[in-house]
Amino acid sequence: MKIISTDKDAHKDQTEFISLDLIPDPFIILRPDSTILDANLSFFTLIGSGKEAVIDKDFNEITLLRKLSRKVSQAFTSRAEDFERISYHNRHFEVLILPFRHSDESYLIRIVLKDITNFIRLEKELLKRNKELIIINTLSSAFISSENMDLVMEDLIEKVLLITDFHTGFLMMNEDEHLKLRTSKGISPDLQNFINAGGIEALCNDVLRIQEPMYIVERSAISRIPVLREEDFVFIAAIPLLSNQKVMGLLFLASRVSREMDFDFAALLSLVGNHVSHIIDKIKLFQETKRLSITDGLTGLFNSRYFYRFLDLEISRTKRYGSSFSLMLFDIDNFKKLNDTYGHQAGDEVLQELARILKSVSRETDVVVRYGGEEFVIILPNTSEEEAITLAYRILQTVQETKIMINATEQVSITVSGGVASFPQNASTAKSLLNAADSAMYAAKTAGRNTIICYQGNLREKSI
Ligand code: GH3
Ligand code: MG
Ligand code: MG
Repeated sequence: MKIISTDKDAHKDQTEFISLDLIPDPFIILRPDSTILDANLSFFTLIGSGKEAVIDKDFNEITLLRKLSRKVSQAFTSRAEDFERISYHNRHFEVLILPFRHSDESYLIRIVLKDITNFIRLEKELLKRNKELIIINTLSSAFISSENMDLVMEDLIEKVLLITDFHTGFLMMNEDEHLKLRTSKGISPDLQNFINAGGIEALCNDVLRIQEPMYIVERSAISRIPVLREEDFVFIAAIPLLSNQKVMGLLFLASRVSREMDFDFAALLSLVGNHVSHIIDKIKLFQETKRLSITDGLTGLFNSRYFYRFLDLEISRTKRYGSSFSLMLFDIDNFKKLNDTYGHQAGDEVLQELARILKSVSRETDVVVRYGGEEFVIILPNTSEEEAITLAYRILQTVQETKIMINATEQVSITVSGGVASFPQNASTAKSLLNAADSAMYAAKTAGRNTIICYQGNLREKSI
């Protein structure tokens, strides 16, 4: 940008700068005594005044320019270029303060105002996007520990607090149609107990009723609940966590100092809510997929894939602690005949009922598996051969006494044959232990079915 002076006679104040109006940005020229020598049309338009209200006036009389007072006097002294950012009527300007030597050796100052409103908006937008990306990245890393949902929740709440700059928060999840406290940070045991006892249920219902992405609990509502009041909370935000348009939980963020709630902050909180929901959803799906991959579809028992994994683990655990465990294998007697007589569907119903019996008779710690078609295995950790035999007979008895409803009209009874083997007494590897139990089970078949045979040492040599 070049200012062209037509008047070489610089001592005259009516010096003219012919090209000023051609410059699109608002532009003024100051004399060393702070009066305005000239300005362009854009400048007059910007401040909404005519030429007569500007020219020869002290620039400090013009509100917009007064903000530049300090920098302008510095520039007159230093004769160095400078810049400043100012706002005026909802617009943002980058102001260039440019001293230059006039023809009479005196220094004047050009002031150019560059409208950077759009740039600032863009910059804000970028910062927001950047923040969103940080949120997504930070929260997504909770996935890494997705094996354990409790740890995931703890991790999530810590990350949420970090991102939103809160220090206190808690997460309630919907379990059996009730919101239960799953994890919390920075709240007293009293408040935890209060929440666990359903103390904020009414508050939760209020939040859910309004169906908004975020709910700010009014101060009056906080002070009505003594436990919340005693925590010195002055600000509580509740964010519903949705999965398939259904509420799966509520995220509470609380603060002991007041928080300004503007549009951007509200948007940030609901974005956090969205991502937390999304992550919990994904982890649930991941865990469900994992569960399905180790579950037998017909009976809901573990499948053989899980069995082999668990058996290896149990063997190494038992070796490490020098204890022992047992394994039982059951096979339904004459099941083919049952299928042929009543149909495959009835056979399936029998398998399901047998699974139920095995689950109900065994202990929490036992691992009940549908090993094959009509073969079932139970791993009994920390269980001796004698204890296993006792349980096996109880199963045998329960099975033969149970009337199983099939095809919705008929009832049948079945029997099973079982083999029991123990580790390390009967085998030294997973394969040989399974072979031992299998041999014992076949011995039970040979012995006339509906019986239990315990592995005998002589079979061991054969199976290894
Ligand atoms: P045994 O007493 O010697 O064990 O005789 P069995 O008839 O039970 O033994 P066999 O191995 O001859 O037959 C097993 C039958 O189990 C054959 C098959 O049709 C049936 N079966 C396997 N898986 C399923 C299933 O998922 N559903 C149904 N309904 N039947 C199954
Ligand atoms: Mg079989
Ligand atoms: Mg069979």
